[in-house]
Amino acid sequence: MSRIQYGMVALVILSGLVLAGCGTAPAGQQSATGVRVVATTNIVGDVVAQVAGKDVQLTVLMGLGVDPHTYVATPRDVAAVHDAQLIFVNGAGLETFLEPLLQQAGGQACLVDLSQGLDLLPAGHAEAEDEHAGEGEYDPHVWLSVPNVMRWVDTIATALSEADPAHAEGYRSRAAAYRQELEALDAWIRQQVAGVPPERRKLVTNHPAFGYFAREYGFEQVGAVYPVSPAAEPSAQDIAALEDVIRRLGVPAVFTESTVNPKMAEQVARDTGIRLVRLYTGSLGEPGSGAETYIAMMRYNTRAIVDALKGSE
Ligand SMILES: [Zn+2]
Repeated sequence: MSRIQYGMVALVILSGLVLAGCGTAPAGQQSATGVRVVATTNIVGDVVAQVAGKDVQLTVLMGLGVDPHTYVATPRDVAAVHDAQLIFVNGAGLETFLEPLLQQAGGQACLVDLSQGLDLLPAGHAEAEDEHAGEGEYDPHVWLSVPNVMRWVDTIATALSEADPAHAEGYRSRAAAYRQELEALDAWIRQQVAGVPPERRKLVTNHPAFGYFAREYGFEQVGAVYPVSPAAEPSAQDIAALEDVIRRLGVPAVFTESTVNPKMAEQVARDTGIRLVRLYTGSLGEPGSGAETYIAMMRYNTRAIVDALKGSE
């Protein structure tokens, strides 16, 4: 009985959003191990870790290479959610698993929706009505725009400081330092992109993950192998239409992603005779990949996109 009630409490907080009902943890819960915090994706987890330092006990639900659209919670994840004081979520409809997970886990965590206050784009395709497809009303891939992640940093610092005032100074100073790194990253991306002629800034990707990146840095998403979501197979007609777009616009590369099956993209690249270039979108890369952190991932992707599109063979 109490399990179900706890689940309902968590869901009420979910609809109330940022910091609703979040207070300081009782003194007894602020042990030497710190505030118990959960992050959903490993990208959210990296940004939270930059701000949190060693002052929190952080559990990241999605391991390396896990695609957020097809993630399934493990018993360890359910336990971490049950015990958490704060749960940082990407939001914008990415975590379709969240409500059932909260109901199953119970607990009294406070949810922090990092998409709150961001200027959200509509979902890649308006006709995406299949809730299981993973893409709802909004395009959830907010993190591929660095200014959005700068906002995350402010939200994370505020939430951690409110939950754990004793360490507020540390959260604020680490957030300020990381924000400076993000500002440098953002400037670097703009500088790199300036080397690509505007008429060549056309992205064909495995699934439409680059809406915020495109809006921020002056690209256009002209097509995707999985036009709705990696969870919905494209039809032969979808593929033919995409290949037509690639030939018509002279797009030189198709970008695939570490967490999405590349088979269809390989087929498209073969059929049209263009390059296949792998990027990181839904997950950070494995050690040695060059995409081990959010900042490294953005640099890796930018280099790969600029190299493929700028036209110097
Ligand atoms: Zn996605």
